[in-house]
Amino acid sequence: MRVEENVTLAPYGTMRVGGPARFFTEAHTAADIREAALFARRHDLPLFPLGSGSNIVVSDEGVHAVVLRMATRGTAYEQTPHGDAIVIAAAGEPWDGVVAETVARGLGGLENLSLIPGTVGAVPVQNVGAYGVEAADRIIWVEAFDAERLAHFVMTPEECAFGYRDSIFKRGGGKNLIITRVAFRLRKDHAPVTEYADIARYLADMKNSNPSPADIRDAVTAIRRAKLPDPNEIGTVGSFFKNPLIPQAAYEELKERFPECPGFPADGGLVKVPLAWILDHICGMRGLKDGAVGAHERQPLALVHYGGGTARSVRAFSEMVRNKVHEKTGIMPEYEVSFVGRFD
Ligand SMILES: Cc1cc2nc3c(=O)[nH]c(=O)nc-3n(C[C@H](O)[C@H](O)[C@H](O)COP(=O)(O)OP(=O)(O)OC[C@H]3O[C@@H](n4cnc5c(N)ncnc54)[C@H](O)[C@@H]3O)c2cc1C
Repeated sequence: MRVEENVTLAPYGTMRVGGPARFFTEAHTAADIREAALFARRHDLPLFPLGSGSNIVVSDEGVHAVVLRMATRGTAYEQTPHGDAIVIAAAGEPWDGVVAETVARGLGGLENLSLIPGTVGAVPVQNVGAYGVEAADRIIWVEAFDAERLAHFVMTPEECAFGYRDSIFKRGGGKNLIITRVAFRLRKDHAPVTEYADIARYLADMKNSNPSPADIRDAVTAIRRAKLPDPNEIGTVGSFFKNPLIPQAAYEELKERFPECPGFPADGGLVKVPLAWILDHICGMRGLKDGAVGAHERQPLALVHYGGGTARSVRAFSEMVRNKVHEKTGIMPEYEVSFVGRFD
């Protein structure tokens, strides 16, 4: 295992900002992960697992930690006693490669999560979701390495405590866990999830009433390419904020002031309000730019970095957006992205 010092993290994140990691190393094997944990312990520093950096903003001062870039690879396919297929993928596998392979095998389950950037290991962390499917709907187990106890173990979905863009891996002791492998349930006779309006419209245009996983993947790919910023072209971490979940009464009040405001039923009797709609129709944020940072012109929920900016400027712009939403609606949006390092 090679450990480097003071490695600038901006190239390792899709927002393309951020200062150095005190130490930086890569894990290609389970032994590398253990060695990195021991190294971190010897230096009395936290171990920070890094995937593709597509959901983090690293501070300009960097991270006082041992950053462990997950580069473990490999996928395996198994069959359950009930005839379902299972794909087991290593944490460092690029997520969309795994999705593409399952779809190419004619297996359904992950196709709605096509084209989401990042690695397999990060998927359970924020329980990635898109177009009516969440990773938690498909995860059978998560294998993790406890950097404190230096032990591997397997977690059930219940133990992962999945929620909307949330899991145990974002909180308390869960932050000490390095996800090493994830298993997902797949099916040949999988019922496609097509309720999401954009997908339904795409399939209707194609006159396709019986879509295969490959058809759904094509639909999702086309929709995402048309709507979302491309991290190869511009700094972005996708949705910067979560969609607010608010009580029914608060939603009714919002509707009185903004009758067109959409809302979708969510767990616990709450209503999920599309923040992109609020940013666009109430706050006038679509395409707004301040120096090197802005809200994307097609999807204002995605803040973008045009180049030459800093993590501080990204943070300042995002705080301005939150405060504006709060001022106009009374809702304070929660961050979907994780800020890493000091921002005070
Ligand atoms: C254009 C664009 C579109 C996006 N669309 C979506 C979307 O539709 N839905 C969605 O949910 N997200 C979306 N995202 C966000 C992002 O792609 C996902 O959150 C993705 O899972 C992050 O993967 P990563 O490898 O880049 O994680 P990173 O950004 O490297 O890490 C994210 C967090 O996970 C932790 N982590 C990473 N690997 C591990 C591991 N092995 N063990 C433990 N912790 C780990 C990190 O410490 C960090 O806290 C989008 C991002 C972009 C840029």
